[in-house]
Amino acid sequence: MSAHMSHGATFDVLIVGGGLVGSSLACALDASPLRIGLVEASAPAIERPPSFDERNLALNRLSLDALHALGVLAQLDTPPAPIRGVHVSSAGDFGRVRLRAEEHGVDAFGGVVIARELGLALERRLVGCVNLARRAPARVVSAQVQTDSVAVELDSGECLHTRLLVIAEGTDSPLRAQLGLGELRKDYGQTLFVSVVQPDRPHAGVAYERFTVDGPVACLPLAGGRIGSVLTVPTAQAESVLGLNDAGYLELLQQRFGWRLGRLRAVGRRSAYPMRLVTAERTVGSRCVVVGNAAQTLHPIGAQGFNLGLRDALCLASLLRAQLALDPGDPGRLSEYADQRADDRARTIDFSDGLAGLFCHRSFPVRLLRGLGLAALDHFADLARPLVRGAMGLNPRALEQLDQLRRPA
Ligand SMILES: Cc1cc2nc3c(=O)[nH]c(=O)nc-3n(C[C@H](O)[C@H](O)[C@H](O)COP(=O)(O)OP(=O)(O)OC[C@H]3O[C@@H](n4cnc5c(N)ncnc54)[C@H](O)[C@@H]3O)c2cc1C
Repeated sequence: MSAHMSHGATFDVLIVGGGLVGSSLACALDASPLRIGLVEASAPAIERPPSFDERNLALNRLSLDALHALGVLAQLDTPPAPIRGVHVSSAGDFGRVRLRAEEHGVDAFGGVVIARELGLALERRLVGCVNLARRAPARVVSAQVQTDSVAVELDSGECLHTRLLVIAEGTDSPLRAQLGLGELRKDYGQTLFVSVVQPDRPHAGVAYERFTVDGPVACLPLAGGRIGSVLTVPTAQAESVLGLNDAGYLELLQQRFGWRLGRLRAVGRRSAYPMRLVTAERTVGSRCVVVGNAAQTLHPIGAQGFNLGLRDALCLASLLRAQLALDPGDPGRLSEYADQRADDRARTIDFSDGLAGLFCHRSFPVRLLRGLGLAALDHFADLARPLVRGAMGLNPRALEQLDQLRRPA
């Protein structure tokens, strides 16, 4: 810690990173008497945090219910576009899966929101939080674990103390390494392009995922008949795709996605993202816990990243609120958090990683099995049911935590 540092506030829980997950956690803890701090590197009113961009987020039912309970959905300018059906196909294979929400007893599997709009809604909600002290723009530069607290230094020179430090810094989290939580990295060698596209035909609320040997393509339903398109290309081709004009890009997207939605006409601004899997080796340490993308950054093709990060936030909020008298950084509670998250986390990481890899295989036996798998799922609703429940986020523990969130602290 530097000599010029001033001594600032003391918190029960200090969240570092006010992205989608850190902000959601702050909202989830708002109803508790705990003193909460939130430090975010970007300024709230002027710039947006980096992840509040044009990416389309497919949110499952649990996430929508949780954001509703947290008072965030009410702050959205445009309500989420419902996902009433899912269509999964693989170029060159015979099988495909078509799932319809009504066949699974729900009106929608989830909804699609633009990350920038969700960011704005969270910002509006954070302004109304009562027990929350915010520092933004401010960056945490170091953290030192002491016996009863963690001393945190900001780039302004201010020093904060907290009994529990929540690391929600996103993929390249420096604190994760500084506090010894370790990380594993895998580069998929793919770059993902995201843009809003206007197709000829109505999407009817169907989310399309099409797997090709060059990587997956997805089209998510948006309001106003538009679709949120996601195109993956091998990183070696990314430069040339970046150089395409709108017409050239639309032609490539059309060729990879096909004609299910007719001609793809206009395309908006395109953003590119390198695809990698980054996971923390441990999710908890002494007086610290890592959540959201800082704990696990997934390939977005499974549309699981924020959904999973929000479940991290729900679980942590629920454990903290269950025993308010206990030290928030109590090691027993932190290991309970790690235990409760382990299974969901491992399964979701494996699911996304498997999805990113499986459909790249060109070999005949793999393609045959894949085709058979897709065809079976399409024909036997019972086989698809667990998959659908999982994709909607409906596991019993998460539902319990959501229930608890709805009750006053
Ligand atoms: C193209 C694309 C499509 C996606 N689609 C989906 C989808 O359909 N469904 C889904 O569930 N997920 C999706 N995701 C994943 C989702 O966007 C992420 O999981 C989510 O944004 C993670 O939120 P986070 O708060 O953990 O991290 P981030 O959003 O990265 O936020 C981290 C924040 O921490 C701040 N910060 C970092 N270091 C410091 C510091 N030292 N001090 C202060 N502040 C700091 C940063 O400024 C930033 O605001 C997609 C991702 C991409 C790239």
